[in-house]
Amino acid sequence: MSSSVNYLRANKMPHIWCPGCGNGIVMSNIIRAINDSGIDREKTVIVSGIGCSSRAPGYMDFDTLHTAHGRAIPFATGIKMANPELNVIVITGDGDSSAIGGNHLIHGCRRNIDITVVIVNNNIYGMTSGQYSPLTPTGAWATTAQYGNIDRPFDIPRVVAACGATYVARASVFHVPQLKNYIQAGLANKGFSIIEAISICPTYFGRKNGMGDAPEMLKWLKDNCKMLKPGDAGNYLAGTAEYDVPYVLGEFVKTTAPEYTESYMKVIEKAGGAK
Ligand code: SF4
Ligand code: MG
Repeated sequence: MSSSVNYLRANKMPHIWCPGCGNGIVMSNIIRAINDSGIDREKTVIVSGIGCSSRAPGYMDFDTLHTAHGRAIPFATGIKMANPELNVIVITGDGDSSAIGGNHLIHGCRRNIDITVVIVNNNIYGMTSGQYSPLTPTGAWATTAQYGNIDRPFDIPRVVAACGATYVARASVFHVPQLKNYIQAGLANKGFSIIEAISICPTYFGRKNGMGDAPEMLKWLKDNCKMLKPGDAGNYLAGTAEYDVPYVLGEFVKTTAPEYTESYMKVIEKAGGAK
């Protein structure tokens, strides 16, 4: 493969991310997946919302769009509807995708529009200094949960599988080969694909939750994630599988359903063609 550096906007460096942030690992694996997919760079658009991870498209030398908080999926939907030939990728954080943009996330799944969404889950609102998100673990410290978060987090694979996403996978920034392979599989899927990347925010989540620095957080991921057992995806999604770790990684959904822009083209044909 060619170097991922070839896909970066050198004039946008240095980046804003803290030392040890997981965002760079996710960004570089999105680039590797694009490169290894062989998809046309000139027909690839990357869209983000707001937050630390949503700054990634600014560093990536593609057609990119940095939009409003939680609204990356609606912008991406508009782009894909206007030109279904484009490869459309969304990069979004845990708060951006599941709180502010939560409604857009579930309806993107329901429509099965051909967009690949990478959710960078660092368990916290990093950019705004540590508020809890819908993916913050119960009991974790946040600036808005000084005595521990009492909410239960969403499990993204279960939520998006229930809403109709046709490719659903989860990896972590420690499990790099899986992360890249799942993003590549998402790009190949003709439909709405979700790849959750469990990431690390040493500055606002790790430090405040006594998890140590970036290497210690990566070791935590190594010790606290397990791969889905073969044939166990249905049990996991049904909540009947027993895994004694916070995060189960793997491919949870690989299925097919009518793709939204193709269905819409049929409507245009029935209506007598584009005027
Ligand atoms: Fe990364 Fe957290 Fe720093 Fe944001 S605040 S750049 S998520 S380490
Ligand atoms: Mg976050």
